[in-house]
Amino acid sequence: MLENANQISDISFAPYVQGENEEYMSDLQLAHFRQILLKWRQALQQDISDTVGHLQQEPMNHADPLDRATQQEEMTLELRTRDRESKLIRKIDQTLERIREDDYGYCDTCGIEIGVRRLEARPTANLCVDCKSIAEIKERVQR
Ligand SMILES: [Zn+2]
Repeated sequence: MLENANQISDISFAPYVQGENEEYMSDLQLAHFRQILLKWRQALQQDISDTVGHLQQEPMNHADPLDRATQQEEMTLELRTRDRESKLIRKIDQTLERIREDDYGYCDTCGIEIGVRRLEARPTANLCVDCKSIAEIKERVQR
């Protein structure tokens, strides 16, 4: 199985240490998150190109039908993972754009600070914890 970088926890970085009187989303903080997002994006892109290489290498004509089925299953699974990763890259790009526009780190719904620690756990988050929970509940109800 190939490695994948679907989770931000796969990306290593030092947690941000906030200065005593440092304002929220200072230039330094924005640079910190920009760095994390770029690193994550790079890892995802590496995954995707590895997969393409991997799929091209593997011979597609196993004699054993069972092997063939397994391989097909693996491939479907991998492609699904890569699809998720492509979506994630788009999300990362949107987030980088927001950093550029100095519009990062605040909840889209209520406008409060999302918080450095939450953003380090989920750098693409655009909702605070409360609004996120409400959005998830709404989503479940609508389904
Ligand atoms: Zn909110």
